[in-house]
Amino acid sequence: MLEDKIKNTIRDVIDFPKEGIIFKDITPILEDVRLTSEITDALVQKSKMLQPDAIVGIESRGFFWGILMAQSLGVPFIPVRKKGKLPYKTISYKYDLEYGSAEIEMHEDAICEGMNVLIHDDLLATGGTAMAAAELVNSQNANVVGFTFLVNLTFLEGNKRLKPYTNNIISLVNY
Ligand code: AMP
Repeated sequence: MLEDKIKNTIRDVIDFPKEGIIFKDITPILEDVRLTSEITDALVQKSKMLQPDAIVGIESRGFFWGILMAQSLGVPFIPVRKKGKLPYKTISYKYDLEYGSAEIEMHEDAICEGMNVLIHDDLLATGGTAMAAAELVNSQNANVVGFTFLVNLTFLEGNKRLKPYTNNIISLVNY
């Protein structure tokens, strides 16, 4: 099963980036060409029916499958990045992380009013990051039609923070 393959390939890194965090390292998946492709197919299959006009990918691990999904669905890819990384005029949103706080940005002209947007990241923890991306999308008068993740750390209940935006919260693997 795909879920087992993903779980067996993810590497747990204990106490990274700080004590008490078990970091789910997805980079070993990227070294497996076939598994990377199977994951893309699964994410595309699950998000196709939502008919997104664009995929928003969250820096940096949300870029990997975000771009692959956008290509496969034939829609634009829009990067959300940490503050100070995008070169043109930006809109920004500040939020709390599982470890620390952060601010993310998007180019102000990346999303048009009324667009149906799917937000992608590698992992859902507390939901703060994905929620911040959803706030950026909504601030442009566009709609969030779904969230996709490879991994959901369900015990942190990130789903609860994303439900106000959409019920379509998709993950391939749950812990
Ligand atoms: P959150 O905002 O708490 O949902 O955190 C999600 C973001 O932080 C994603 O971009 C993840 O890549 C990263 N992240 C948080 N916790 C972990 C973890 N335990 N393992 C890997 N990445 C994590």
